[in-house]
Amino acid sequence: MSIDASLKAFEEAENLIPGGVNSPVRAFKSVGGTPIFITEGEGAYLKDIDGNKYVDYVQSWGPLLFGHRDETIEAAVIEAVKHGLSFGAPTVAETELAELVVSYFDSIDKVRFVSSGTEAVMSAIRLARGFTGRDDIVKFTGCYHGHSDALLVEAGSGAATFGNPSSPGVPADFTKHTLLATYNDIESVKKCFADSDNIACVIIEPIAGNMGLVPADKEFLVQLRELCDANGTLLIFDEVMSGFRGSINGAESITGTKPDIVTLGKVIGGGMPVGAFGARAEIMSMLSPEGPVYQAGTLSGNPVAMAAGYAALSKLKQNAQVLSVLNARALRLVQGMQKEAHSCGITMQIDTRGSMFGFFFNEKPVKNFEDATHSDAELFAKFHAAMLEEGFYFACSLYETGFISTAVTDEMIEDTIKASAKVFKAITNG
Ligand SMILES: *Cc1c(COP(=O)(O)O)cnc(C)c1O
Repeated sequence: MSIDASLKAFEEAENLIPGGVNSPVRAFKSVGGTPIFITEGEGAYLKDIDGNKYVDYVQSWGPLLFGHRDETIEAAVIEAVKHGLSFGAPTVAETELAELVVSYFDSIDKVRFVSSGTEAVMSAIRLARGFTGRDDIVKFTGCYHGHSDALLVEAGSGAATFGNPSSPGVPADFTKHTLLATYNDIESVKKCFADSDNIACVIIEPIAGNMGLVPADKEFLVQLRELCDANGTLLIFDEVMSGFRGSINGAESITGTKPDIVTLGKVIGGGMPVGAFGARAEIMSMLSPEGPVYQAGTLSGNPVAMAAGYAALSKLKQNAQVLSVLNARALRLVQGMQKEAHSCGITMQIDTRGSMFGFFFNEKPVKNFEDATHSDAELFAKFHAAMLEEGFYFACSLYETGFISTAVTDEMIEDTIKASAKVFKAITNG
């Protein structure tokens, strides 16, 4: 397999774009490779500029539940484009998508659309602070909530220590209201509440997908809800990734725990830039222009993006079984690979939620970020490079989640397992 054209394109991009990419994870840095430049997607496949074809388990990092160039979504976008790209005035398309989103989530009465997950979370936090009149927030180490200042807080050592910014350019003053807790560890959250009586919200990925796939324990979420209620603190479920991926009616439907605010993104844009946050009416009414909490966006609720999102979510509505079908495939994939790894003496931890799958080369089950960091990164890098060579495009970091789209067939899953067998053998022999 030649990737000469990609190598050249990357060199040229590096001269003009920092690191050659417009979002860092794309650079293949954590697996020590160079990124593949894409020309086209088609169903389950990605095609690169050297003419190679890959089964795509990244799906644009989540949004493409129905694979590349889904006919319904494509037609809806083309139709919308013909009427104009943006108006900066209300359209019926926004109400239609809002109605769909609200219909899926018990905890959402009203929703506001923005243009990215980062924006959705940042605005949800402001809303929680405005609603409660408090300043502090609790986040979990290893959960990612976009790149806004207050949420870019590093995996700190102890729980309940005030966080340090994980990026230069973020003043410590901006993160001093962000308290860190340990995922799946209720004692660490209790310590945050002991340290501060000014906590506006606890934000969590109820199905964490940004430290690899690490779902929250049911009981942990129940206790989290209780702690929030006892302290007058709002609970935010960041479902930018897991929304319509982990389950069709949100994590609340599979965990039984209800959040106060939900943030969404990825799938709800069907591949276009869309984010959203929603809550019960009482909370959403705090938002400008109804209430005093300011939030705005020139391209928010963009008609083309709304059309793509509406097409994706209504397709899902007509085919509510789709996530259980995808889950069966996801399970088959990771169980198949785990078996092949095992026969080569490699221990693999696996998990799935709906169309999301995760695996760690780790001796022990992974319950939090600290556990995830004890995975074998070198083995992952080898696996990633060799699978790419075999025509299978996996996320280029062990701290990411894999995605099955409806375009992935059982046969492709079998082929992936076979390729993994070959790869594990080569790695353990060489
Ligand atoms: C992707 C993601 C975000 C950020 O969304 P962007 O659209 O990349 O800004 C926020 N939270 C979670 C859980 C995500 O997976």
